[in-house]
Amino acid sequence: MTRRSPVWHPFTQHAVQPDPEMIARGSGAWLETPDGRRILDAISSWWVITHGHANPRITAAIRAQAGQLDQVIFAGFTHEPAEQLATKLLSVAPAGLSHVFFSDSGSTAVEVALKMALGTWHNRGEARTTVVALEHGYHGDTTAAMSAGARGLFSQPYAPMLFDVARLPFPHEGAEQATLDALEAICTTRKAAALIVEPLILGAGGMLSYPPRVLHDMHEICARHGTLFIADEVMTGWGRTGTLFACEQAGITPDILCTAKGLTGGSLPLAATLSKPEIFDAHYSTDRARTFFHSSSYTANPICCAAALANLAVWEDEPVLDRISALGALQDEKIAQFKGDKRFTNVRRVGTMTALDLAVVDAGYLASAGPGFTKASLARGVLLRPLGNTIYVMPPYCTTSAELDMIYGTIDAAASEALAGI
Ligand SMILES: *Cc1c(COP(=O)(O)O)cnc(C)c1O
Repeated sequence: MTRRSPVWHPFTQHAVQPDPEMIARGSGAWLETPDGRRILDAISSWWVITHGHANPRITAAIRAQAGQLDQVIFAGFTHEPAEQLATKLLSVAPAGLSHVFFSDSGSTAVEVALKMALGTWHNRGEARTTVVALEHGYHGDTTAAMSAGARGLFSQPYAPMLFDVARLPFPHEGAEQATLDALEAICTTRKAAALIVEPLILGAGGMLSYPPRVLHDMHEICARHGTLFIADEVMTGWGRTGTLFACEQAGITPDILCTAKGLTGGSLPLAATLSKPEIFDAHYSTDRARTFFHSSSYTANPICCAAALANLAVWEDEPVLDRISALGALQDEKIAQFKGDKRFTNVRRVGTMTALDLAVVDAGYLASAGPGFTKASLARGVLLRPLGNTIYVMPPYCTTSAELDMIYGTIDAAASEALAGI
Protein backbone atom coordinates (compact mmCIF):
# COMPACT_ATOMS: atom_id res chain seq x y z
CA MET A 1 0.00 0.00 0.00
CA THR A 2 1.48 3.36 -0.93
CA ARG A 3 0.83 6.17 1.43
CA ARG A 4 1.96 9.68 0.83
CA SER A 5 1.65 11.05 4.36
CA PRO A 6 4.77 10.90 6.55
CA VAL A 7 2.62 10.87 9.70
CA TRP A 8 3.01 7.79 11.89
CA HIS A 9 -0.23 7.31 13.85
CA PRO A 10 -0.63 5.82 17.35
CA PHE A 11 -1.83 2.23 17.79
CA THR A 12 -2.12 1.99 14.03
CA GLN A 13 -0.86 -0.80 11.78
CA HIS A 14 -0.38 1.23 8.62
CA ALA A 15 0.09 -1.88 6.48
CA VAL A 16 -3.47 -3.09 6.98
CA GLN A 17 -5.57 -0.25 8.36
CA PRO A 18 -7.31 2.18 6.03
CA ASP A 19 -5.85 5.67 5.69
CA PRO A 20 -6.94 7.91 8.56
CA GLU A 21 -9.97 10.15 8.14
CA MET A 22 -9.15 13.81 7.69
CA ILE A 23 -11.09 15.90 10.22
CA ALA A 24 -11.45 19.63 9.75
CA ARG A 25 -13.93 20.70 12.43
CA GLY A 26 -15.49 19.63 15.70
CA SER A 27 -18.62 20.89 17.41
CA GLY A 28 -20.70 19.38 20.22
CA ALA A 29 -20.80 15.60 19.74
CA TRP A 30 -19.80 15.89 16.07
CA LEU A 31 -16.67 15.82 13.92
CA GLU A 32 -16.69 17.01 10.34
CA THR A 33 -14.53 16.13 7.34
CA PRO A 34 -13.25 18.85 4.95
CA ASP A 35 -16.00 17.94 2.46
CA GLY A 36 -18.67 18.38 5.13
CA ARG A 37 -19.37 14.74 6.04
CA ARG A 38 -20.40 14.51 9.70
CA ILE A 39 -19.23 11.83 12.13
CA LEU A 40 -20.82 11.34 15.55
CA ASP A 41 -18.06 11.04 18.19
CA ALA A 42 -19.38 8.19 20.35
CA ILE A 43 -16.06 7.75 22.19
CA SER A 44 -15.34 11.41 23.01
CA SER A 45 -12.22 11.36 20.81
CA TRP A 46 -10.42 8.78 22.94
CA TRP A 47 -12.20 9.59 26.19
CA VAL A 48 -11.18 13.23 26.56
CA ILE A 49 -14.11 15.39 25.41
CA THR A 50 -16.57 15.91 28.25
CA HIS A 51 -18.97 18.81 27.52
CA GLY A 52 -18.60 18.58 23.73
CA HIS A 53 -16.13 19.68 21.04
CA ALA A 54 -15.27 23.39 20.87
CA ASN A 55 -17.14 24.32 24.03
CA PRO A 56 -17.56 28.10 23.62
CA ARG A 57 -16.53 28.99 27.18
CA ILE A 58 -13.36 26.90 27.04
CA THR A 59 -12.50 28.14 23.55
CA ALA A 60 -12.88 31.77 24.65
CA ALA A 61 -10.62 31.22 27.67
CA ILE A 62 -7.94 29.67 25.47
CA ARG A 63 -8.11 32.60 23.07
CA ALA A 64 -7.85 35.18 25.85
CA GLN A 65 -4.95 33.46 27.63
CA ALA A 66 -2.99 32.94 24.40
CA GLY A 67 -2.91 36.73 23.94
CA GLN A 68 -1.82 37.33 27.54
CA LEU A 69 0.88 34.82 28.46
CA ASP A 70 1.57 31.78 26.32
CA GLN A 71 4.27 30.00 28.30
CA VAL A 72 6.71 30.58 31.15
CA ILE A 73 9.27 28.38 32.88
CA PHE A 74 7.52 26.89 35.95
CA ALA A 75 10.57 26.43 38.19
CA GLY A 76 11.15 29.69 40.03
CA PHE A 77 8.10 31.25 38.33
CA THR A 78 4.35 30.90 38.63
CA HIS A 79 1.22 32.46 37.11
CA GLU A 80 -2.40 33.16 38.00
CA PRO A 81 -4.02 30.40 35.89
CA ALA A 82 -1.92 27.73 37.63
CA GLU A 83 -2.41 29.21 41.11
CA GLN A 84 -6.16 29.51 40.68
CA LEU A 85 -6.46 26.10 39.08
CA ALA A 86 -4.55 24.35 41.89
CA THR A 87 -6.78 25.96 44.53
CA LYS A 88 -9.97 25.14 42.63
CA LEU A 89 -8.90 21.57 41.91
CA LEU A 90 -8.27 20.93 45.60
CA SER A 91 -11.68 22.38 46.45
CA VAL A 92 -13.52 19.90 44.21
CA ALA A 93 -11.27 16.84 44.70
CA PRO A 94 -11.77 14.39 47.59
CA ALA A 95 -11.08 16.22 50.88
CA GLY A 96 -7.60 15.97 52.38
CA LEU A 97 -5.46 16.46 49.27
CA SER A 98 -3.20 19.48 49.64
CA HIS A 99 -0.78 19.83 46.71
CA VAL A 100 -0.99 19.83 42.91
CA PHE A 101 1.83 18.88 40.53
CA PHE A 102 1.15 19.70 36.88
CA SER A 103 2.23 17.72 33.84
CA ASP A 104 1.00 17.11 30.30
CA SER A 105 -0.76 13.75 29.96
CA GLY A 106 -2.33 10.92 31.88
CA SER A 107 0.82 8.85 31.46
CA THR A 108 3.03 11.55 32.95
CA ALA A 109 0.55 12.10 35.79
CA VAL A 110 1.06 8.41 36.60
CA GLU A 111 4.87 8.62 36.26
CA VAL A 112 4.78 11.56 38.67
CA ALA A 113 2.54 9.65 41.10
CA LEU A 114 4.82 6.61 41.16
CA LYS A 115 7.94 8.79 41.54
CA MET A 116 6.25 10.69 44.39
CA ALA A 117 5.46 7.39 46.13
CA LEU A 118 8.96 5.95 45.75
CA GLY A 119 10.51 9.34 46.59
CA THR A 120 8.45 9.49 49.76
CA TRP A 121 9.78 6.14 51.01
CA HIS A 122 13.32 7.00 49.89
CA ASN A 123 13.25 10.30 51.76
CA ARG A 124 11.81 8.62 54.83
CA GLY A 125 14.68 6.15 54.75
CA GLU A 126 12.36 3.14 54.56
CA ALA A 127 13.14 0.37 52.10
CA ARG A 128 9.75 0.13 50.42
CA THR A 129 9.94 -0.30 46.67
CA THR A 130 7.20 -2.75 45.65
CA VAL A 131 4.44 -1.30 43.49
CA VAL A 132 1.14 -3.20 43.48
CA ALA A 133 -1.35 -3.00 40.61
CA LEU A 134 -4.53 -4.67 39.39
CA GLU A 135 -4.68 -7.37 36.76
CA HIS A 136 -5.97 -5.92 33.42
CA GLY A 137 -5.01 -2.40 34.56
CA TYR A 138 -3.98 0.36 32.17
CA HIS A 139 -2.06 3.43 33.29
CA GLY A 140 -0.53 4.84 30.10
CA ASP A 141 2.25 4.15 27.64
CA THR A 142 5.34 5.69 29.22
CA THR A 143 7.64 3.24 30.98
CA ALA A 144 6.55 3.37 34.62
CA ALA A 145 2.91 3.58 33.55
CA MET A 146 3.45 0.63 31.21
CA SER A 147 5.15 -1.30 34.01
CA ALA A 148 2.12 -0.84 36.25
CA GLY A 149 -0.27 -1.78 33.45
CA ALA A 150 -1.19 -5.27 32.28
CA ARG A 151 1.52 -7.04 30.31
CA GLY A 152 0.88 -8.58 26.93
CA LEU A 153 0.95 -7.83 23.24
CA PHE A 154 1.46 -4.08 23.77
CA SER A 155 4.32 -4.31 26.24
CA GLN A 156 6.20 -7.40 25.07
CA PRO A 157 8.81 -5.69 22.84
CA TYR A 158 9.61 -3.23 25.62
CA ALA A 159 9.96 -5.74 28.46
CA PRO A 160 13.65 -4.83 29.04
CA MET A 161 12.68 -1.31 30.06
CA LEU A 162 9.89 -2.29 32.48
CA PHE A 163 10.07 -3.02 36.21
CA ASP A 164 8.23 -5.80 38.02
CA VAL A 165 5.07 -5.04 39.95
CA ALA A 166 3.03 -7.24 42.29
CA ARG A 167 -0.24 -8.04 40.57
CA LEU A 168 -3.65 -8.46 42.24
CA PRO A 169 -6.33 -10.59 40.58
CA PHE A 170 -9.17 -8.46 39.18
CA PRO A 171 -12.11 -8.38 41.63
CA HIS A 172 -14.60 -10.20 39.39
CA GLU A 173 -18.13 -10.49 40.76
CA GLY A 174 -18.15 -13.14 43.47
CA ALA A 175 -14.33 -13.22 43.69
CA GLU A 176 -13.77 -9.83 45.33
CA GLN A 177 -12.41 -11.36 48.53
CA ALA A 178 -9.53 -13.01 46.64
CA THR A 179 -8.35 -9.56 45.51
CA LEU A 180 -8.53 -8.17 49.03
CA ASP A 181 -6.76 -11.21 50.47
CA ALA A 182 -3.98 -10.93 47.89
CA LEU A 183 -3.52 -7.25 48.73
CA GLU A 184 -3.42 -8.00 52.44
CA ALA A 185 -0.80 -10.71 51.83
CA ILE A 186 1.44 -8.49 49.68
CA CYS A 187 1.21 -5.60 52.13
CA THR A 188 2.14 -7.93 54.98
CA THR A 189 5.00 -9.82 53.38
CA ARG A 190 6.55 -7.18 51.13
CA LYS A 191 5.83 -3.84 52.84
CA ALA A 192 4.46 -2.51 49.57
CA ALA A 193 5.33 1.08 48.67
CA ALA A 194 2.13 1.86 46.78
CA LEU A 195 -0.99 0.42 45.20
CA ILE A 196 -2.14 1.99 41.94
CA VAL A 197 -5.70 1.36 40.72
CA GLU A 198 -8.25 2.72 38.30
CA PRO A 199 -11.20 3.33 40.62
CA LEU A 200 -14.49 1.49 39.82
CA ILE A 201 -13.78 0.74 36.18
CA LEU A 202 -10.76 -0.43 34.19
CA GLY A 203 -11.00 1.32 30.83
CA ALA A 204 -8.47 0.05 28.33
CA GLY A 205 -8.49 -3.34 30.08
CA GLY A 206 -11.97 -3.89 28.60
CA MET A 207 -14.41 -1.69 30.56
CA LEU A 208 -14.32 -4.01 33.57
CA SER A 209 -16.07 -2.65 36.62
CA TYR A 210 -16.08 -3.49 40.31
CA PRO A 211 -18.17 -2.10 43.18
CA PRO A 212 -17.29 0.93 45.35
CA ARG A 213 -17.13 -1.37 48.39
CA VAL A 214 -14.07 -3.16 46.94
CA LEU A 215 -12.40 0.19 46.24
CA HIS A 216 -13.15 1.22 49.82
CA ASP A 217 -11.73 -2.02 51.23
CA MET A 218 -8.55 -1.86 49.12
CA HIS A 219 -8.01 1.66 50.45
CA GLU A 220 -8.60 0.50 54.01
CA ILE A 221 -6.05 -2.32 53.71
CA CYS A 222 -3.45 0.08 52.29
CA ALA A 223 -4.10 2.63 55.06
CA ARG A 224 -3.62 -0.05 57.71
CA HIS A 225 -0.23 -1.06 56.25
CA GLY A 226 0.99 2.41 55.36
CA THR A 227 0.98 1.46 51.65
CA LEU A 228 0.33 4.61 49.62
CA PHE A 229 -2.92 4.49 47.66
CA ILE A 230 -2.74 5.98 44.15
CA ALA A 231 -6.04 6.53 42.34
CA ASP A 232 -5.56 6.77 38.58
CA GLU A 233 -8.63 8.87 37.77
CA VAL A 234 -7.32 9.80 34.31
CA MET A 235 -10.32 8.19 32.61
CA THR A 236 -12.81 8.05 35.51
CA GLY A 237 -12.49 11.70 36.52
CA TRP A 238 -14.69 14.59 35.39
CA GLY A 239 -18.00 12.81 35.71
CA ARG A 240 -17.42 9.67 33.66
CA THR A 241 -18.61 7.32 36.42
CA GLY A 242 -21.51 9.56 37.51
CA THR A 243 -19.66 11.56 40.17
CA LEU A 244 -16.94 14.17 39.59
CA PHE A 245 -14.33 11.64 40.75
CA ALA A 246 -14.97 7.91 41.10
CA CYS A 247 -13.32 7.80 44.56
CA GLU A 248 -16.28 9.79 45.94
CA GLN A 249 -18.51 6.73 45.51
CA ALA A 250 -16.31 4.77 47.93
CA GLY A 251 -15.98 7.71 50.33
CA ILE A 252 -12.19 7.61 50.15
CA THR A 253 -9.39 10.12 49.68
CA PRO A 254 -6.39 8.54 47.99
CA ASP A 255 -2.87 9.55 49.04
CA ILE A 256 -2.21 10.51 45.43
CA LEU A 257 -4.75 11.17 42.66
CA CYS A 258 -3.98 11.41 38.93
CA THR A 259 -6.20 13.41 36.60
CA ALA A 260 -5.85 14.36 32.92
CA LYS A 261 -8.18 13.64 29.95
CA GLY A 262 -11.29 15.68 30.93
CA LEU A 263 -9.34 18.24 32.99
CA THR A 264 -9.50 20.79 30.17
CA GLY A 265 -12.83 19.45 28.92
CA GLY A 266 -10.69 17.59 26.39
CA SER A 267 -9.48 20.73 24.63
CA LEU A 268 -5.76 20.81 25.49
CA PRO A 269 -3.23 18.43 27.04
CA LEU A 270 -2.89 18.98 30.77
CA ALA A 271 -2.56 16.65 33.73
CA ALA A 272 -2.33 17.02 37.47
CA THR A 273 -1.12 14.74 40.24
CA LEU A 274 -2.72 15.68 43.57
CA SER A 275 -1.14 14.60 46.83
CA LYS A 276 -1.80 14.54 50.55
CA PRO A 277 0.37 16.68 52.85
CA GLU A 278 2.47 13.65 53.93
CA ILE A 279 3.74 13.15 50.38
CA PHE A 280 4.73 16.81 50.00
CA ASP A 281 6.21 16.87 53.51
CA ALA A 282 8.46 13.89 52.76
CA HIS A 283 10.03 16.04 50.03
CA TYR A 284 10.10 19.28 52.07
CA SER A 285 13.56 19.70 53.55
CA THR A 286 16.58 21.97 53.77
CA ASP A 287 18.40 19.01 52.25
CA ARG A 288 18.22 19.69 48.51
CA ALA A 289 18.71 15.98 47.79
CA ARG A 290 15.08 15.51 48.87
CA THR A 291 13.70 17.67 46.09
CA PHE A 292 11.04 16.11 43.88
CA PHE A 293 13.08 15.66 40.74
CA HIS A 294 10.62 15.88 37.90
CA SER A 295 9.66 18.40 35.28
CA SER A 296 8.66 18.76 31.67
CA SER A 297 9.07 21.81 29.46
CA TYR A 298 5.39 22.68 29.38
CA THR A 299 4.60 21.99 33.04
CA ALA A 300 1.47 24.05 33.91
CA ASN A 301 1.32 25.77 30.53
CA PRO A 302 -0.81 28.90 31.09
CA ILE A 303 -3.08 28.32 28.08
CA CYS A 304 -3.81 24.76 29.21
CA CYS A 305 -4.44 25.97 32.78
CA ALA A 306 -6.84 28.62 31.47
CA ALA A 307 -8.72 25.93 29.56
CA ALA A 308 -8.94 23.84 32.74
CA LEU A 309 -10.19 26.84 34.73
CA ALA A 310 -12.90 27.38 32.13
CA ASN A 311 -13.82 23.70 32.41
CA LEU A 312 -14.11 24.08 36.18
CA ALA A 313 -16.31 27.15 35.66
CA VAL A 314 -18.61 25.07 33.45
CA TRP A 315 -18.84 22.50 36.24
CA GLU A 316 -19.54 25.27 38.75
CA ASP A 317 -22.22 27.16 36.82
CA GLU A 318 -23.94 24.52 34.74
CA PRO A 319 -25.91 21.44 35.85
CA VAL A 320 -23.26 19.01 34.56
CA LEU A 321 -24.04 16.26 37.08
CA ASP A 322 -27.74 16.43 36.09
CA ARG A 323 -26.76 16.10 32.42
CA ILE A 324 -24.64 13.11 33.32
CA SER A 325 -27.36 11.32 35.23
CA ALA A 326 -29.86 12.02 32.44
CA LEU A 327 -27.37 10.65 29.91
CA GLY A 328 -26.92 7.54 32.05
CA ALA A 329 -30.68 6.95 32.30
CA LEU A 330 -31.09 7.41 28.54
CA GLN A 331 -28.28 4.96 27.87
CA ASP A 332 -30.02 2.36 30.08
CA GLU A 333 -33.09 2.69 27.86
CA LYS A 334 -31.17 2.42 24.61
CA ILE A 335 -28.94 -0.46 25.58
CA ALA A 336 -31.83 -2.57 26.94
CA GLN A 337 -32.51 -3.86 23.39
CA PHE A 338 -29.20 -5.79 23.49
CA LYS A 339 -29.92 -7.70 26.70
CA GLY A 340 -30.80 -11.25 25.69
CA ASP A 341 -29.56 -10.62 22.13
CA LYS A 342 -27.40 -13.66 21.30
CA ARG A 343 -24.83 -11.55 19.46
CA PHE A 344 -23.79 -9.88 22.71
CA THR A 345 -22.81 -10.69 26.30
CA ASN A 346 -22.15 -8.59 29.40
CA VAL A 347 -24.34 -5.64 28.49
CA ARG A 348 -23.41 -3.07 31.13
CA ARG A 349 -23.30 0.59 32.15
CA VAL A 350 -21.16 2.58 34.58
CA GLY A 351 -22.08 6.27 34.80
CA THR A 352 -21.95 7.76 31.31
CA MET A 353 -20.35 4.67 29.76
CA THR A 354 -21.91 1.54 28.37
CA ALA A 355 -20.20 -1.59 27.08
CA LEU A 356 -21.16 -4.93 25.58
CA ASP A 357 -19.04 -7.81 24.34
CA LEU A 358 -19.45 -9.27 20.88
CA ALA A 359 -20.14 -12.98 21.39
CA VAL A 360 -17.21 -14.30 19.39
CA VAL A 361 -14.70 -17.03 20.20
CA ASP A 362 -11.81 -14.88 19.03
CA ALA A 363 -11.55 -12.28 21.82
CA GLY A 364 -8.50 -10.20 22.76
CA TYR A 365 -7.31 -6.93 21.28
CA LEU A 366 -6.59 -8.33 17.83
CA ALA A 367 -10.07 -9.86 17.60
CA SER A 368 -10.88 -9.98 13.91
CA ALA A 369 -14.37 -8.54 14.39
CA GLY A 370 -12.96 -5.23 15.68
CA PRO A 371 -11.65 -3.60 12.48
CA GLY A 372 -14.73 -4.71 10.53
CA PHE A 373 -16.96 -3.22 13.19
CA THR A 374 -15.09 0.09 13.21
CA LYS A 375 -15.27 0.32 9.41
CA ALA A 376 -18.98 -0.53 9.31
CA SER A 377 -19.69 2.11 12.01
CA LEU A 378 -17.73 4.81 10.24
CA ALA A 379 -19.59 4.06 7.00
CA ARG A 380 -22.75 4.92 8.99
CA GLY A 381 -21.22 8.14 10.32
CA VAL A 382 -20.43 7.01 13.86
CA LEU A 383 -17.00 6.84 15.49
CA LEU A 384 -16.75 3.65 17.55
CA ARG A 385 -13.55 1.75 18.29
CA PRO A 386 -13.98 -1.55 20.15
CA LEU A 387 -11.34 -2.79 22.58
CA GLY A 388 -10.92 -6.30 21.18
CA ASN A 389 -14.46 -7.68 21.18
CA THR A 390 -15.69 -5.12 23.71
CA ILE A 391 -17.84 -2.45 22.10
CA TYR A 392 -18.28 0.61 24.27
CA VAL A 393 -19.97 3.99 24.12
CA MET A 394 -18.43 6.95 25.97
CA PRO A 395 -20.21 9.99 24.55
CA PRO A 396 -19.71 13.70 25.29
CA TYR A 397 -22.24 14.91 27.88
CA CYS A 398 -24.10 17.03 25.30
CA THR A 399 -25.14 13.92 23.33
CA THR A 400 -28.92 13.89 22.76
CA SER A 401 -31.42 11.04 22.81
CA ALA A 402 -31.66 11.14 18.99
CA GLU A 403 -27.87 10.96 18.71
CA LEU A 404 -27.81 7.99 21.08
CA ASP A 405 -30.41 6.29 18.87
CA MET A 406 -28.04 6.76 15.95
CA ILE A 407 -25.14 5.28 17.97
CA TYR A 408 -27.06 2.21 19.16
CA GLY A 409 -28.68 1.69 15.78
CA THR A 410 -25.19 1.69 14.31
CA ILE A 411 -23.97 -0.83 16.89
CA ASP A 412 -26.87 -3.10 15.95
CA ALA A 413 -26.10 -2.94 12.22
CA ALA A 414 -22.29 -2.90 12.43
CA ALA A 415 -22.24 -5.90 14.78
CA SER A 416 -24.19 -8.00 12.31
CA GLU A 417 -21.93 -6.89 9.49
CA ALA A 418 -18.76 -7.58 11.46
CA LEU A 419 -19.99 -10.99 12.62
CA ALA A 420 -20.88 -11.91 9.04
CA GLY A 421 -17.40 -10.86 7.92
CA ILE A 422 -15.39 -13.27 10.12
C1 LIG B 1 -5.76 7.18 29.02
C2 LIG B 1 -5.29 6.71 30.36
C3 LIG B 1 -4.00 6.99 30.81
C4 LIG B 1 -2.98 7.67 29.94
O1 LIG B 1 -3.33 8.97 29.62
P1 LIG B 1 -2.65 9.70 28.36
O2 LIG B 1 -3.13 11.10 28.45
O3 LIG B 1 -3.14 8.98 27.15
O4 LIG B 1 -1.18 9.56 28.53
C5 LIG B 1 -3.65 6.62 32.09
N1 LIG B 1 -4.53 5.98 32.89
C6 LIG B 1 -5.77 5.69 32.50
C7 LIG B 1 -6.70 5.02 33.44
C8 LIG B 1 -6.20 6.02 31.21
O5 LIG B 1 -7.43 5.68 30.79
